[in-house]
Amino acid sequence: MFRRLAAASDGASWVDFSNAALGVVRNGTAFHCADELDEQFRSQFLKPTLQGLSAITVVGEISIVDALASLQLVLDRNGLPFFGEHYTREVLDRLEIGCAGSACMLPWAIEARQRCRDACGHWKIPSADNIIAFSSWDISCRDMNFLNAGKIYRADWGATISDGLKDLLRPLQQQVSRSMHPERLALLELLVAILLAFPQADWGIQGNKALSNLTAPPADSSILAACKGEVRTYVSQFPCMSCLVIFCQFRRRCPGVRLEVDFDNAWTSFCGEARCSVRC
Ligand SMILES: [Zn+2]
Repeated sequence: MFRRLAAASDGASWVDFSNAALGVVRNGTAFHCADELDEQFRSQFLKPTLQGLSAITVVGEISIVDALASLQLVLDRNGLPFFGEHYTREVLDRLEIGCAGSACMLPWAIEARQRCRDACGHWKIPSADNIIAFSSWDISCRDMNFLNAGKIYRADWGATISDGLKDLLRPLQQQVSRSMHPERLALLELLVAILLAFPQADWGIQGNKALSNLTAPPADSSILAACKGEVRTYVSQFPCMSCLVIFCQFRRRCPGVRLEVDFDNAWTSFCGEARCSVRC
């Protein structure tokens, strides 16, 4: 019935229903026409959107701006806002972003979850104000190291970062802006720190130019391409499409850095603790 009635442009309903069905199946319960639903969701929504995300990641003939514009057209047609609790893990894996399989977490994410629980205090209805991230990194670039042992990030407009530098990781253009999401803020903080450490390098900063006036270097900046190491990000809610776009741009700009991402479903859990077992 759902497959007959849901519009091809109603990606929000498709992704919610497909994730719900997949969750039921993975719990060992039969779900009528689950295979057909899965197949249609994949062909109609997952596959074309994943192709668009891959084009952002791979250094090739198409620029980041053009790849983003192409993906935007796909999303304007299918209305897909995210991949949801179950399909996101598969998408991250296909984008070569480290992620645990279903029903498990990456080992470092256990502490990250706890730090987010401590920071939040208690479960709330998920919103931009209370979805938080915990990011850490260990990066080397030429003769310098950039270490973040782990820090909480909340949604923020990044007022101290110029609009030009924010172009390092461009969000999708959506009716409700996702540009302040904590995943983007954390990665922007890292990239800006690296670039400011090499002011005379290949992106044209001369002297003490104000941070508010700086612009992003080209996508093939040799400084960012020289970075090696690892970035780990846990988010209390599965990443939205705009944040997946951010991850893809980060991978393209820093191909030598392994990006690992883990997450929970903030509607059903309090950073991994079942919602029904925590006081609301
Ligand atoms: Zn997001």
